[in-house]
Amino acid sequence: MVVIGGGVIGLSIAWTAAVNGMAVTVVDPAPGRGASWAAAGMLAPVGEAYYGEEALIALNLRASREWPEFARALETASGESVGYRADGTLLVAMDPSDQAATDDVLGFHLGHGLGARRLSARECRGEEPLLAPGIKGGAELADDHQVDNRRVVDALAGACRAHRVAFSDDEASDVDGGDGDGGRVTGVTLRHGGRLAAGAVVVAAGCRSGQIGGIPEAIRPPVRPVKGITVRLRGDSRGPSLRRTVRGMVHGRSCYLVPRRDGTLVVGATVEEQGFDLSVRIGAVSDLLDDARQLVPALDEYELLESTAGLRPGSPDNAPIVGQTHVAGLIMATGHYRNGILLAPVTAYEVTRILLSGAVGLIGPDGHEEAAGQAGSAERPVKIGDRLHETSLMGAFAPFGPDRFAPAGGAGRAPLSVGDR
Ligand SMILES: Cc1cc2nc3c(=O)[nH]c(=O)nc-3n(C[C@H](O)[C@H](O)[C@H](O)COP(=O)(O)OP(=O)(O)OC[C@H]3O[C@@H](n4cnc5c(N)ncnc54)[C@H](O)[C@@H]3O)c2cc1C
Repeated sequence: MVVIGGGVIGLSIAWTAAVNGMAVTVVDPAPGRGASWAAAGMLAPVGEAYYGEEALIALNLRASREWPEFARALETASGESVGYRADGTLLVAMDPSDQAATDDVLGFHLGHGLGARRLSARECRGEEPLLAPGIKGGAELADDHQVDNRRVVDALAGACRAHRVAFSDDEASDVDGGDGDGGRVTGVTLRHGGRLAAGAVVVAAGCRSGQIGGIPEAIRPPVRPVKGITVRLRGDSRGPSLRRTVRGMVHGRSCYLVPRRDGTLVVGATVEEQGFDLSVRIGAVSDLLDDARQLVPALDEYELLESTAGLRPGSPDNAPIVGQTHVAGLIMATGHYRNGILLAPVTAYEVTRILLSGAVGLIGPDGHEEAAGQAGSAERPVKIGDRLHETSLMGAFAPFGPDRFAPAGGAGRAPLSVGDR
């Protein structure tokens, strides 16, 4: 099988499929350096959702429960730490109207059975002494965690190599064989010449998934790029630092600060509809840093390491587009928008389940047919087969097809997220 796109989604699928005995090739000129590199790595099942997105929230909650085991298995397979931290998030309000917004978020968390409690300003500062004296209060969100997304994609690439996943650094220009009724995929044509034969092709090219040729119009994934900028900072290693993720509402705007164990701090993020533009504008960075500095004045002494733009693969209803299409062997795995890091494990399990179901004939990159679902190694780092047979994730993903995106979609929903800007 061929996976087009080696971001967190494509690499997670490639690794999971390879662990289950499939021969996999990932095509990507720059694996792991798309949105997955720019991201902050928050695993926030409710914090990045909107009112009315109950199905997505259910999926996010499930994804959040999958992460500890996924992280452990990935660390075992790659020999690298992925920085999974289950130390929760502190939500902080700067003024009374921000406090009303954070109370809403708190209620939403409690309503979904998540660990959360209201905190006074004094309690917030007790938890995080670097917070500004002027904050009004906040909440502890015990079930919002984090992982180091950059370590994750690098570890996934390592785990893939350890399971003999092949990599092509070309770009996929076309899926072959998908045109016309009753089509079935036969492989992928590469931009710079040549093709890879395959009986299964997974389109995981992030915000560019809709641009791959050879995909019939009716099932072309309606993803769009939604730009986001994160800024990476580093404090004095001898000085105090944030202990855990802080999400703040700052006079109606929001920002987050995600501390890593290596001393860096990720500040994010903008949400900009600018097409495929990846430029980093000073105004956007300046707004982000202004808000972050209001929350944590000590940031003035931090070193500015980098500012990075990434393009989230947005879908019309903010939910991922994952599943088998009517073209045999053509599988979509895109549209993860603001939750792609969180949703990577469940997406990989779902796609692997489809591949193992035998519904798609698998042909390795050498053109030889392979048995679907042939046994992987006896010491599987991920018990994917067991998990997939226990429970299907199919119901958790909205069915893939044009009906899914009827006009009543995500537009016009009241924003809940404190991650919005
Ligand atoms: C600023 C920012 C902050 C974020 N924070 C979070 C967060 O805290 N938590 C969270 O869960 N999510 C977060 N996200 C969202 C998350 O990053 C994305 O949902 C996720 O990375 C999508 O993964 P992907 O693999 O689909 O896309 P990408 O990581 O963009 O990967 C797509 C890959 O496809 C390749 N590609 C494209 N076209 C082709 C082609 N024709 N042929 C071959 N390869 C191709 C690209 O080179 C790229 O490597 C954030 C995103 C941004 C931008």
